[in-house]
Amino acid sequence: MYFYGTTGVNGKGNLEIGGVDAVELAEQFGTPLYVYDVSLMRERARGFKKTFEEQNVKAQVAYASKAFSTIAMLQLAEEEGLSLDVVSGGELYTAIAAGFPSERIHFHGNNKSREELEMALEHKIGCIVVDNFYELELLKTICFERNETISILLRVTPGIEAHTHDYILTGQEDSKFGFDLQNGQAEEALITALRIKHFDVLGLHCHIGSQIFETTGFLLAAEKIVGKMNQWKNTLNFEAKVLNLGGGFGIRYTSEDEPLLPSQYVSEIIKEVKSLIQKYSMEMPEIWIEPGRSLVGDAGTTLYHIGSSKEVPGVRKYLAVDGGMSDNIRPALYQAKYEAVLANKPLAEPTEKVSIAGKCCESGDMLIWDLPLPETEDDDLLAVFCTGAYGYSMANNYNRIPRPAVVFVENGKAALVVKRETYEDLLRLDLPLK
Ligand SMILES: *Cc1c(COP(=O)(O)O)cnc(C)c1O
Repeated sequence: MYFYGTTGVNGKGNLEIGGVDAVELAEQFGTPLYVYDVSLMRERARGFKKTFEEQNVKAQVAYASKAFSTIAMLQLAEEEGLSLDVVSGGELYTAIAAGFPSERIHFHGNNKSREELEMALEHKIGCIVVDNFYELELLKTICFERNETISILLRVTPGIEAHTHDYILTGQEDSKFGFDLQNGQAEEALITALRIKHFDVLGLHCHIGSQIFETTGFLLAAEKIVGKMNQWKNTLNFEAKVLNLGGGFGIRYTSEDEPLLPSQYVSEIIKEVKSLIQKYSMEMPEIWIEPGRSLVGDAGTTLYHIGSSKEVPGVRKYLAVDGGMSDNIRPALYQAKYEAVLANKPLAEPTEKVSIAGKCCESGDMLIWDLPLPETEDDDLLAVFCTGAYGYSMANNYNRIPRPAVVFVENGKAALVVKRETYEDLLRLDLPLK
């Protein structure tokens, strides 16, 4: 059995996370329940930051908050000295409500609205990652109207796409994001941006994909972008102060996944950028990265009560839990895989393979196919590991199922950080016919 972070088995033979008994958590807070191992999140954050510090490289590690954005989480990110990526007015609003220092907030997105951009200026956030020509014009107009200056990065598509285990090199990358580096769009955007006196162009940004297990893609991207930076230094007299290589660092969901440690990703990136900088005799830029999943993913565990079962003779056995695609849509959305154990007997030998179904009215509402489990009884608790990223943040109210509560555990203490939604909450926005 593979246990993440502080997860293990306690003296009662129950699953324990952050020194807290998972069975007691389920009793106290109900199920489904998202449980986050705070010390593992701290360890991941420090893992990314440490290597930059050790090697004296100016850097920002920005937590891509779309992975899991709540007030407590953003406060933890602040405590760990991270910066923050937001991709919408709602995520920005959450960051401001959490008291996150606005100068360390970066705003992403391929279709930011006028209201969102004005909100970003209002709060004097650190920088806006400009994605396209439409945004360049809109932001320019807003800055002129307000007579304010803003720092920007230009998001470029370097023509490298990570497909988890391999990379596709495309001449003209087919992506909805960013200015194409190969076909001249990025250069045109840079020339335009440099002429706008309300913009401070800090540098360039790219993000090549997600759940990436090796460094090749990041190094290829760095090579392409630094090559262009060198060209633009000579032709446009533009020296980028910031090189942002995005996020996408992979995590272990199942035994099939073999990610690197944060420190390994970072040290390879530093090595590559340093050697490119030397080759072109350039100044070392600040390196920014944007981990989302890898900061919170394996720190999250979801607890469910097991309910009904159905045997399809000769085919499979279904076990249903009290949640499903409403709290974790990833398996239904893109066949994401998870591992799980019974929280009240995590070490019991598996005796059969079962498939874990959700309770939503969709045949596709499955959480895990063919999971080895021991014989289950009433009141057994299922703990699904690695649900910390894109679980709560994608949770929804399909079938009018209230979203689960979120609990942080650390050093033997549990703290409720998001309340369980109530039926009343579900009706909060509804208005009667008359
Ligand atoms: C989603 C995203 C990230 C984070 O991706 P992870 O796979 O969660 O690390 C970082 N940067 C940008 C621009 C993104 O869109």
